[in-house]
Amino acid sequence: MNFSLPKDVLDFKDMVREFAIEHVRPSAEERDLSEKWDTDIWKKMGEMGLLGLSHPVEYGGQGADCLTTTVATEAFAEGSSDGGLTLAWGAHTIIGTMPIVLCGTEEQKKKYLPKLSSGEWVAGLGLTEPGSGSDAAGSMETRAVKKGDRYVLNGAKMFITNGPIGDVFVVMAVTDKKKGPMGISVFIVEKNFKGFSAGKKMKKLGMRTSTTSELIFEDMEVPEENMLSKENSGFARVGRATLEWERTVLVASALGSMQSMLDSGIKYAKNREQFGEPIIRFQAIQEKIARTRYKLDAARLLLYKNAVMKDQGKPAPIESSLAKLYATEAVVEASYDMGQIHGGYSYIHEYPIERAFRDSRLGTLGAGTSEVMRSIIAANL
Ligand SMILES: Cc1cc2nc3c(=O)[nH]c(=O)nc-3n(C[C@H](O)[C@H](O)[C@H](O)COP(=O)(O)OP(=O)(O)OC[C@H]3O[C@@H](n4cnc5c(N)ncnc54)[C@H](O)[C@@H]3O)c2cc1C
Repeated sequence: MNFSLPKDVLDFKDMVREFAIEHVRPSAEERDLSEKWDTDIWKKMGEMGLLGLSHPVEYGGQGADCLTTTVATEAFAEGSSDGGLTLAWGAHTIIGTMPIVLCGTEEQKKKYLPKLSSGEWVAGLGLTEPGSGSDAAGSMETRAVKKGDRYVLNGAKMFITNGPIGDVFVVMAVTDKKKGPMGISVFIVEKNFKGFSAGKKMKKLGMRTSTTSELIFEDMEVPEENMLSKENSGFARVGRATLEWERTVLVASALGSMQSMLDSGIKYAKNREQFGEPIIRFQAIQEKIARTRYKLDAARLLLYKNAVMKDQGKPAPIESSLAKLYATEAVVEASYDMGQIHGGYSYIHEYPIERAFRDSRLGTLGAGTSEVMRSIIAANL
């Protein structure tokens, strides 16, 4: 057991944090206010290799392991103060592309990974539907019916990150209703397939620098060679493999956000004076700082352990749910505590804590709610 990160991972962490401070943070407030998707920053992320970070080198990626990708996400969130772009990056690299990396055929990898890894194409995952969220597998309505050498898909997906700007989506659909969750298949869908459309960009509380929309399939034809893994094995195989990556890498955004909130909370508390002294002298303020720090450390340990388990090829259903549950609840609490330290200024846009407060709210909802994480943990125990 070794609690230090390898030197190359630490160096990379610093590099990603510096990149985010220089190229992302300066415009985060303005992009959040105007809900702007920024292709120039996306291109720069591609040039740095971030958009194919965890994808295999032979298909144009960087071949980083889960731990390195987790730490890079943490550093990006910390440096950028931009939860939305961190989310869009994770939706592209992890949930939109890792299913192809983990379960794709050689042809699928050759066709899709190089352009996804460079960032020329943007990816996303279509699992949630208007009427099915937590019970995604059990109440899925999107249907795929085989006709000759194609599948015809009808249905809609809801809340899809990168929906309005994405080129390629990994989409789940029912192929055998009788089999319930074991009757679901996964397809690689391109935005220019006949019958595909994306809904209007949704207006959101937070994560506003990312784009979200519905995906609509009306007799959309998908060539059979675009099925990922075998028919009906989609949810059990592709979903499971990918969700554990999601509940590790995407959740690491909470670590970076907590670190940056903690640093700014301490700095603010040292400078802000009330009753003739810096507010950091007050025990009630110190308590918030200590609480945020121990939660950050605990969340970090859970997530790093989880990432190492993924790199060792071990299934981590309990660990990934524990880490997801703890880290996302911790970042919400941290945003409240660090917000209290900033007093009324925490309510004003130009203070990053205001954005962090809104951005953090998604954590306990997306990728399985806190309630669902608790029930997965209990069911596994
Ligand atoms: C900004 C944003 C981006 C997203 N990006 C994507 C994406 O890219 N791709 C994608 O597929 N999805 C995406 N989602 C969807 C997200 O994963 C779902 O919102 C989430 O899974 C919850 O589903 P739901 O909203 O339908 O809530 P519901 O499932 O309807 O839950 C409502 C409430 O009931 C509770 N509940 C439900 N079942 C149980 C139970 N068994 N026990 C106890 N409580 C329960 C929930 O915890 C919650 O409190 C995104 C959502 C948002 C808001």
